[in-house]
Amino acid sequence: MSTATPTVTTAALEKSKIAILGYGSQGRSHALNLRDSGLDVIVGLRAGGATAATAKADGFTVVEPAEAVKQADLVAVLTPDMVQPDLYVNAIEKNLKPNAALLFAHGFNVHFKTITPRKDIDVILVAPKGPGHLVRTEYEIGRGVPCLYAVYQDVTGKAKDKAMAYAAGLGGARALLIETDFKEETETDLFGEQAVLCGGASELVQKGFETLVEAGYRPEIAYYEVLHELKLIVDLLYQGGITKMLTFISETAQYGDYVSGPRIVDAATKERMKAVLKDIQDGTFAKNWTAEYKAGLPNYKKFKQADLDHPIEKIGAQLREKMVWLNQQK
Ligand code: NAD
Ligand code: MG
Repeated sequence: MSTATPTVTTAALEKSKIAILGYGSQGRSHALNLRDSGLDVIVGLRAGGATAATAKADGFTVVEPAEAVKQADLVAVLTPDMVQPDLYVNAIEKNLKPNAALLFAHGFNVHFKTITPRKDIDVILVAPKGPGHLVRTEYEIGRGVPCLYAVYQDVTGKAKDKAMAYAAGLGGARALLIETDFKEETETDLFGEQAVLCGGASELVQKGFETLVEAGYRPEIAYYEVLHELKLIVDLLYQGGITKMLTFISETAQYGDYVSGPRIVDAATKERMKAVLKDIQDGTFAKNWTAEYKAGLPNYKKFKQADLDHPIEKIGAQLREKMVWLNQQK
C-alpha cells in the first residue's frame, strides 16, 4: 500500500492553470480546495447552466468549457459521467494543449472506452473517498479525505507527480494517498455501489420493511427498525469496523446476527454478487447504462418512480417531520 505523506506537495502544479469542468458535488469542493492551496483555478461551465451562478458567487472566473480547456495545463472533468463523452468531443479534444493533463474523479469513460483520450496528453485520476462536501469541510479544518490516484497515460513523465500534487491540493495527502489504476478504481467503485452501498442496502431495507408490514406490524414501527436505526449501525462500522459494532450491540443482537445474518445473505447471494461483478468487468453494465442514457432513461425513470412510490417513503416523510434535528439539517 502506498502511504501518503505530508511531503507530497502541490509543487508539480504550481505553474499550471487548472480548469475545473462541472461545479457539482466534486467540482465545487475541488475548485475551492485547490484555490486555497495556492493553485490557479478557472471554472468551465455552460453559460446559464445550473451551477454557473454558484461558481461566480464563490469568486471564480467562469468561462465556457471549451475556453477553459484552451487556457489550461490540467483539465479536471467533473461533470456527470454520462455527459463526459460528448463534452470530451465538443469541448476538450480539439482545445487541449499538448502535454496537458486530463484528470477524472472516476475512471468509467476512459476504462470502458467511451472516451478515447488524445495520445499527446497525460491522463490521470484522483478520486477522493468521500462526497464533495466532506472533501471541503475536512480541508477547512486542516485535515483531508483519503484519495485514490492513478495514471492511464504518461507522455510528460510527470503524470504521477501531477496526480499526487492535485490530490495534495485537495487535502488528501494530509490523510492518505493510495495508488490504483483505472480498471481497479472503476470496477470496484461500481461493484460497491451496486452490490452493497446503494443497491444492496436499499433493497435490504425495503424487503425488511415489507416483511414486517405484510406480517401485520405497523409501518411506523417497521420504519424505525429497518431504516432509521441503520444509521446507528453504519456509524459504528465507519468508526471501528464490525469489531466496534459488536462491542456496542447486546449479546442478544449478536447471537441473532450470527445465526440469522447468513440465512439472509448466503452463499447464493455471494454467487449473484460475482455475477454482478462479471457484468461490470466484461463491460455489460457500462454498455447497458450508456444505451439507457442515450434512450432518454426510460427504465431508470420507472425504477426511480417505484422507489419513490414505495410505502416506506410515505411513512418516512411523516416520521421525519417529527424529528426536529433532521429538519434542521436540510
Ligand atoms: P454532479 O452531478 O454533482 O455535478 C455535475 C456538474 O456538471 C454540475 O455543475 C453541472 O451543472 C455540470 N454539468 C452537467 N452537464 C454539463 C455539461 N454538458 N457541460 C458542462 N457542465 C455540465 O456530479 P458529481 O457527483 O460531482 O460527479 C462528478 C464526477 O465525480 C463523476 O465522474 C463522478 O463519478 C465522480 N465522483 C463523484 C463522487 C460523489 O461523491 N458525488 C465521488 C467520487 C467521484
Ligand atoms: Mg432499489
